Amino acid sequence: MLRVAIDGPGGTGKSTIAKAVAERLGLEYIDTGAMYRSIALKSIRLSVPVDDEPKVIEMLADTVIDFNDNKVYLDGEDVSGQIRTNEISMAASTISKLGPVRAKVDEVSKRLAATKDVVMEGRDIGTAVIPDAEVKIFMTAAPEIRAKRRYEQLVAAGKPANLEEIKEDIEKRDYQDSHREINPLKQADDAVYMDTSDMSIDENIDAVCAVIADKTGRDV
Ligand code: C5P
Repeated sequence: MLRVAIDGPGGTGKSTIAKAVAERLGLEYIDTGAMYRSIALKSIRLSVPVDDEPKVIEMLADTVIDFNDNKVYLDGEDVSGQIRTNEISMAASTISKLGPVRAKVDEVSKRLAATKDVVMEGRDIGTAVIPDAEVKIFMTAAPEIRAKRRYEQLVAAGKPANLEEIKEDIEKRDYQDSHREINPLKQADDAVYMDTSDMSIDENIDAVCAVIADKTGRDV
C-alpha cells in the first residue's frame, strides 16, 4: 500500500504537485479541499449561513460528496469548475470548522484511501485522515509567494482576481485553518517539512518523489 499525505496552507501549489506526482507514480489523486469547497458551494446556493451549525447539519443530511478522476461531485453534479473562487475559499474555511462537515469529508476521504493507493492533499491528512500514511509531507511557502501563485492560477482560469485581496484572504484563512478546534492545520510529527518558495514546479515534483523514494525504497 502507498498512501502519500500532503498537507499545508492554501496556495502552496499542493494541488498541482500532488496531481503531477500521482500521475507519475500511477496513484489516485484526491483533493480533500475540493470536497470542503463543494459543501461551501451548496450552502451559498441554498443561502445556508456557513456558521449556522444546525442548518448546515440539516443540509448535510441531504448531501452526497464524491471525488473521482480529478473531479469533485456534489449530489452527482461535477462542480469542479465552480469552486475555485475567493468567495468559496473563505466559505470553505469557515464551514470546515464544523465537526459534522469534517466528519462527512473524512468519511469519503478514508473510504477512498482504504481501497486505492493515493496521493491525498489537504490540511489534516497526515494528522487525522491517514495518520498511518507511508509518506507524509508538510508543504509550505512564503505568504506573498502563495498569494502570487493563487492570483496566477485564477487569472489563468479566466477568473476575477485581485492580488491584495488574495493576500489578505490567505492570511485570514491561514489563521482560521490553524486555530480551529477540530483537526487544525498542523505539521504531523513524522511529516517531512518542505518549503517550496524557491522551487519551480518540476523541482517541487522531484523533491516529493525523492521523499517517496527515501521513505518507501521505491524507484521513482
Ligand atoms: O486546499 P483548499 O484551499 O482547496 O481548501 C479549502 C479549505 O478547506 C481550506 O481553507 C480549509 O479550511 C479546508 N480544508 C480542511 N481540511 C482539509 C482540506 C481543506 O479544513 N483536509
